[in-house]
Amino acid sequence: MLNAAGEVSASDLRDQVRDFLQSHDPAQLSRADFLRARFDAGLAWVHYPSGLGGQGLPRTMQPVVDQAFAAAGAPSNRPERNTIGLGMAAPTILAFGTAEQKERWLRPLWTGENVWCQLFSEPGAGSDLAGLATRAVRDGDEWVVNGQKVWTSSAHIAQRAILVARTDPSLPKHQGLSYFAVDMSAPGVEVRPLRQATGEAEFNEVFLTDVRIPDADRIGDVGQGWAVSNATLMNERVSIGGGAAPREGGTIGNATRTWREHPELRTPGLHERLLRLWTETEVSRLAGIRLRQQLAAGQPGPEGSASKLVFARLNQDVTEFEVELAGADGLRYADWSMRRPDGASYANRDAGYRFLRSKGNSIEGGTSEILRNIIAERVLGLPLELRVDRDVPWKDLPR
Ligand SMILES: Cc1cc2nc3c(=O)[nH]c(=O)nc-3n(C[C@H](O)[C@H](O)[C@H](O)COP(=O)(O)OP(=O)(O)OC[C@H]3O[C@@H](n4cnc5c(N)ncnc54)[C@H](O)[C@@H]3O)c2cc1C
Repeated sequence: MLNAAGEVSASDLRDQVRDFLQSHDPAQLSRADFLRARFDAGLAWVHYPSGLGGQGLPRTMQPVVDQAFAAAGAPSNRPERNTIGLGMAAPTILAFGTAEQKERWLRPLWTGENVWCQLFSEPGAGSDLAGLATRAVRDGDEWVVNGQKVWTSSAHIAQRAILVARTDPSLPKHQGLSYFAVDMSAPGVEVRPLRQATGEAEFNEVFLTDVRIPDADRIGDVGQGWAVSNATLMNERVSIGGGAAPREGGTIGNATRTWREHPELRTPGLHERLLRLWTETEVSRLAGIRLRQQLAAGQPGPEGSASKLVFARLNQDVTEFEVELAGADGLRYADWSMRRPDGASYANRDAGYRFLRSKGNSIEGGTSEILRNIIAERVLGLPLELRVDRDVPWKDLPR
């Protein structure tokens, strides 16, 4: 049913899911066929345009559809395996890709047939991303890429990657960059695991040696790589920090469950800490809802940095609380064998894993120091940081 303003209502969306399930029985279809059909019906990401898996609806309607499919026991696209694809590559392709690129990449991305990874950071360029050294040199209808990337999450399961590379070293560093999509099975792409404090190798080093990328896989204009990368980074912060966990979901849910189930572990000091963490998590959750409502209007701005900053601090505080609450058991670590997981999941893991994994939260997707700079300069309008910037001669730096 349409509401009074002629818009699609939640009950209309539930009806659409019911009708879809009547003609597409998940028990009779392969997972991929079911998900492709769901995409074609505009029931994938409802805020995307018609023809690209959505219906141009507010982003806040998405949970209605997801819950209706989950209640029917339908297979999901396993978003936890493709967080970079769904949260970062897709909105960037939508904003800067050509019609042909959107048509070619978005459906297999959403269904999970193509997992995407992010080839941004390098050994000499993390916070100062624009200082990256990976080169892409034009050769007819192709680009030849050479360089080394690092900390590349999920590169070992990815079919595609978003890449930023230097295409004109004669220009100031922010202007000489271009943005590409890379086929991870192309000759010259080598992925090597990097083991983390958790014992696992969730991320990798990626070596690119004479990798050929068709010009048709360039996203945005030549030289526009910095603007395109910024769209990715803004979406990354919202994707990490603006998650849609339910009340008492996420890491605070683990802490409160242990608290309720093990009264013998409680102390007055821990009680006060848990109350504070619970309240702060709830405030952050509500702020995240408001952020997603604002996002319905377009690309995220620097405000997403605050969500990511608070997420990192709270996740570290809550997981530290969990380890302390567990007493001596908190020192146990279930499995330190070297594995290459599909993604980082805090569910079904012990407190020790969550404690160690959360340490990366204040580094990945922009360090907390860099996010504070962004908030200071671009949200609060405070004076610019004094940067030792390669493009600015020392004598011209502001004092
Ligand atoms: C779990 C995890 C997953 C990751 N996944 C990916 C991925 O998939 N793809 C990818 O491309 N990258 C990934 N990264 C890399 C991440 O984006 C970088 O580690 C991050 O941007 C910081 O860069 P850096 O490590 O080079 O540190 P640096 O930039 O060298 O920073 C070192 C320290 O100096 C501080 N610092 C630097 N500049 C300033 C400044 N101007 N003001 C104040 N302090 C400053 C930083 O905050 C930090 O504490 C991942 C990282 C982690 C931890």
